[in-house]
Amino acid sequence: MKIFTFDTTLRDGTQGEAVSFSVDDKLIIAQKLDELGIDYIEGGWPGSNPKDKEFFTRASELNLKHAKLTAFGSTRFAKNPVEQDRNVLALVEAGTPVVSIFGKTWDLHVKRALGITNEENLVLISDTVKYLVDHGKEVVYDAEHFFDGYLANPAYALQTLDAAKQAGAYVLCLCDTNGGTPTARLIEIVSEVRKRYDGVIGIHTHNDSDIAVANTLAAVEAGATHVQGCMNGYGERCGNANLASVIANLELKLGHTTLGPDKLTGLSAACRFISELANLPLRNDQPFVGKSAFAHKGGVHVSAVLKDSHTYEHVAPETVGNRQRVLVSDLSGRGNILYKLKQHGLAGRLSEDARRELLERIKQMEYEGYELEAAEGTFELLVREALNPGLQFFDVDSYEVATRATGVGPSHTTATVTLRAQDGVHSATEIGHGPFNALHLCLRKCLSRLYPQITEVRLTDYKVRVLDTRKGTAANVRVLIEWSDHRRSWSTVGVSDNVIEASWKALVDAIRLELMRLMEKDSSVERAVEDYCWGV
Ligand SMILES: [Zn+2]
Repeated sequence: MKIFTFDTTLRDGTQGEAVSFSVDDKLIIAQKLDELGIDYIEGGWPGSNPKDKEFFTRASELNLKHAKLTAFGSTRFAKNPVEQDRNVLALVEAGTPVVSIFGKTWDLHVKRALGITNEENLVLISDTVKYLVDHGKEVVYDAEHFFDGYLANPAYALQTLDAAKQAGAYVLCLCDTNGGTPTARLIEIVSEVRKRYDGVIGIHTHNDSDIAVANTLAAVEAGATHVQGCMNGYGERCGNANLASVIANLELKLGHTTLGPDKLTGLSAACRFISELANLPLRNDQPFVGKSAFAHKGGVHVSAVLKDSHTYEHVAPETVGNRQRVLVSDLSGRGNILYKLKQHGLAGRLSEDARRELLERIKQMEYEGYELEAAEGTFELLVREALNPGLQFFDVDSYEVATRATGVGPSHTTATVTLRAQDGVHSATEIGHGPFNALHLCLRKCLSRLYPQITEVRLTDYKVRVLDTRKGTAANVRVLIEWSDHRRSWSTVGVSDNVIEASWKALVDAIRLELMRLMEKDSSVERAVEDYCWGV
């Protein structure tokens, strides 16, 4: 069955503590959600703040091919006639084909929050819905606190839905606003509502009990055909139902149609894109779309998944645009190594003994604090070194770095590096933006005459992690450096109790890897290397 998707990342999602989007961000995200095939995009509350008002003014810049843009607001204020209520007028002026409004369901809120009678509240609902319908809007009626209200006074809760339905609301959306309704109770209540009304029943859940996605899916099983949520589960307090997980489950597990199988493959990319704009890292363990969602680490898992991915994967990662990953770590069995070797096109070139030795070396490095899962570059270097035992492109004689700060003006950092390569000793002194940059410049200068091709690689990220915080400033640190050429990116890792040394190790690994790769494809480098095989 077709289930309609209603995304509220740009409204409820921005009520999450860490989430903030500029108007430009919101416009770009709306376009992305449309490309993904979302049916409704709730852009904001035009009556509540200037940013949302500007969003709807500029929404004409959008080129939506499928989604209906939706403006959000509330029922009119009790003291205002509907045609003079600024909030309701702003909804009409927003110019969207769809308007969602929330109204009170729970008699406690009617009495305490609004300070009016139950009957007056029904008039607010009915007036507002009718006014918007008369102005040509498709109205999604959000019954706020529906499940709590139903529990307190079921007859009244249903009367509020009657008021919205009779006034012409197209969707009756049941909201678990406080996010505390247990699934079994939610199913009972949705089923009761389903029996009572024809037309579209919607569901809007929050994740305060960590069951928002489960509750949304349960509501669909009980007859809801319109699901609301936020991408990546953003939203007020603990977030809204994660719409990405809801969509994947409906499509892949429950046999419903939301985006359809083609667009579903864009799900992971869309989640990543939105997290980039939110400036919040996409959670690695986010189901379906996270980096770790199909990552295998335990040796038993890996050897099984290599034989048949169904053994440890609940769906095929490609269906949601994700990919299988096999991690290298101290839990690794030989299966992981084999997988990695195949990935690099190197399988078959290592003997059984060489593989076992490599595994032991990796385990030892992980024990020392290296993190090879995140540093595929260092791992590739280990493999290539195993393939070419005794091969070294250069030896480091010495390096030093000094930063001078006088308290006036910027500080200056100078580094000197001395290397021994096949054609003799090379030394360079450079001034850089900080110690790492200065060392990097020196190393490349020393090697550039012998290997001019290595200049194509650039540094894209640099991260430092303290490994044992109890030791304070004497703790070991792990430095992870990300590199990129025109085609791909990779990371190298270094560990030491000295952050400069850890950075230096990661830097030297990166350069060695670059040379190893060049050797594989460039015969002049290969010859140069052959001339200089230390230890052979
Ligand atoms: Zn909400």
